[in-house]
Amino acid sequence: MWKKGSIGGRLISIYFLLVFIALTIVGVFIIQQLEAYHMNNTRDSLTKVAQEGVLKSLSSYSSLKESQQEIQINIETWYSAVQEEIFVVDESLNIVASTNSSFVNKSAIDDLDAELITKALTGIVSESEGVIGSQKIPVMNMAFPIENEENVTGVLYIREDLTSVYDTLEQSMLIFIQAMLIALCVTVILGVLISKGITRPINQLTHRAEAMSKGDFKRQVNVKSGDEIGRLGKAFNQMAEQLDKTMSEISDEKNKLEIVLKTMADGLIATDELGRIIHINSAALDMFNITEEYAKSKHYDALISEYCPELILEKIRIKTEAETELESAEIFEYNGYVYYARYEIIDRSQNSEVGLVVIIQDITERQKLESMQKDFVANVSHELNTPLTTIKSYTETILDSEGILQEEEMVKRFLTVIDSEADRMSRLVKDLLQLSRLESQREKWNKSVQDVVSIVSNVVLKNSINAKNKNQHLNSLFNQEQQILAYVDPDKFEQVLLNILSNAIKYTEENGRIDVDVIQRNDNVYITVMDNGIGISEKELPRLFERFYRVDKARSRSMGSGTGLGLSIAKQIIEEHEGTISIESKEGKGTTVTIQLPVDIGSLPDNIEQ
Ligand code: ADP
Repeated sequence: MWKKGSIGGRLISIYFLLVFIALTIVGVFIIQQLEAYHMNNTRDSLTKVAQEGVLKSLSSYSSLKESQQEIQINIETWYSAVQEEIFVVDESLNIVASTNSSFVNKSAIDDLDAELITKALTGIVSESEGVIGSQKIPVMNMAFPIENEENVTGVLYIREDLTSVYDTLEQSMLIFIQAMLIALCVTVILGVLISKGITRPINQLTHRAEAMSKGDFKRQVNVKSGDEIGRLGKAFNQMAEQLDKTMSEISDEKNKLEIVLKTMADGLIATDELGRIIHINSAALDMFNITEEYAKSKHYDALISEYCPELILEKIRIKTEAETELESAEIFEYNGYVYYARYEIIDRSQNSEVGLVVIIQDITERQKLESMQKDFVANVSHELNTPLTTIKSYTETILDSEGILQEEEMVKRFLTVIDSEADRMSRLVKDLLQLSRLESQREKWNKSVQDVVSIVSNVVLKNSINAKNKNQHLNSLFNQEQQILAYVDPDKFEQVLLNILSNAIKYTEENGRIDVDVIQRNDNVYITVMDNGIGISEKELPRLFERFYRVDKARSRSMGSGTGLGLSIAKQIIEEHEGTISIESKEGKGTTVTIQLPVDIGSLPDNIEQ
């Protein structure tokens, strides 16, 4: 019913022991008192027998020995019926007379308590207890001096059988033991009930505390009493409520933190003071292309040294202690990406390290951007410098050469070059300004529903002279009568088409062929400009839309006055129209540029041409 060492068990044991000890003390005390009472009774009855005549009549004899016959007869006559045994002993310790005649004339020393008799002979009344016979019958002895005219003539020795006294005592003891057993049984039953009453609420509290340790804070303890346990129960319920609140707050915070860690773009690795990984977020796992199980199965040093050995704990500790670094960070490359890792050793207090947090940022794009910016500045400077140098050298020639002004033809040629270089610069600046407006979203748009077919036809027409000059065949493959409507800024859209078509003419040799087509498929219109010109190598293709990128600078420049910004601008403009621009090309075979634009949905039902 009760576990070993439980309060209930202990309460019952203590209760039982207390009752047992109390009853035993009471029992022993009562038995002792009872014994003393009986002994006193016996003593009184012995004294009474002695003093009620025997002693008196015996004191009248001057010599007991001489009157033996008479004394014996008297004793036998008067006292044969009493339960006490009477012995008359003379000075020479001989039994002169007795209620038990078999003792007469025997030595008192052998059969009676000699010490008592000796004391009585000196005039002292004394008593003793002992056993007699082979059956060991308990008896009480008393010896009285027999005095005749101040002389002790002998001893009156009386003894009484105590068997009945001891029987009574034994009986009393048995009764008492039975009473005690019953009392102890009642004690145990009461103890069980009382301890149950006390331990039930404690058990409830214990179960509740166990449930709480497993995270269940909802159940309340049902304590109705107003005693200490009741108050404890109430306090416990309040504590559980508070804990529940606090735990849910903590778990909310934890969830928020987890969401933040999960969604943050930067990788995060947190370790304890021994370098065991306690958290690694999904960004970090993606960066290193590993699973959480794999990461957590490894020691931080083993994991990080695969990517950046500079970030192992020992090195970080040394760097942190030395404090030589301005910034606690490392840059490393992995899998073609550049990472910037910041680290922080977390101290609880001084000299007590709690762990380490490493935050890893993917700075590949930033680095690319930085290098692109540097390239851009260099490119712009270079592109502007080239025509400026030409202009300067031509003007200097005119200024420095004497009499050159007379050579009108020469000066005209020089000025034409200067003029075209100035045009080139102005085009470059114009393109740069437009690109800058596009990138910073400052470009003004003038969009409306336009017929794409007529814009393309117009651009083809505008370029036909240039194509003709190079003996190229510029073909419009589409039906010029049809109408495909799209929501575009007509000027900017035309600018893109002009750039693509002029590129096709520029990078296609004489007698080449250029086909322009416009088709509508589903919700999109596709404009393709296909040439059989010099083409672009596969490796150059992905970089074509970069600013200032030219396949071969010398080749491009020799072929015309491009700035290398045309396709970048085209891409920005088309993307602003929610379209795409793509280039397919084979070196030496030709190039196809495709623009895809969404058609104007409002105009769809009338214009579907499948
Ligand atoms: P550019 O003003 O120099 O023409 P673009 O941005 O328009 O600059 O074009 C970038 C580069 O792409 C060009 O320098 C050229 O080398 C290449 N290119 C563009 N169109 C074609 C084409 N149809 N055929 C071959 N190369 C082309």
